[in-house]
Amino acid sequence: MTDCIFCKIANHEIPTTPVFENDKVIAFNDLNPQAPTHILVIPKQHVASVSDVKDLSVMQDLFDAIQQITTKNNIKDFRTVINTGSGAGQTVFHLHIHILAGRPLLWPPG
Ligand code: AMP
Ligand code: ZN
Repeated sequence: MTDCIFCKIANHEIPTTPVFENDKVIAFNDLNPQAPTHILVIPKQHVASVSDVKDLSVMQDLFDAIQQITTKNNIKDFRTVINTGSGAGQTVFHLHIHILAGRPLLWPPG
């Protein structure tokens, strides 16, 4: 999608330093981190949100990447977040999973 910032990151049109990358997924640090570790994991193909996922292998690829990232970086305690819809805090309409770690994470979230 031409006007999608995360597609541009996935295509390397916007330079980024990937935390993880394979042919399906790229992960990078959040621009406005909410924890000492705040990584975004996205599919390279454009999917707007969880509600738009047709092929569940997209989710498998994302969770496989999360396991690799957390294992490689020795992150044992972490929170994954997917905001879906503006009312739930989604601001970028390209599916992404937040990985938050490195500080106490309260429950319930705000
Ligand atoms: P959400 O509110 O769940 O849609 O999350 C979008 C996240 O993307 C926010 O945490 C933003 O800080 C982050 N973000 C937006 N633009 C960029 C960018 N160019 N590079 C890295 N993170 C970004
Ligand atoms: Zn996109």
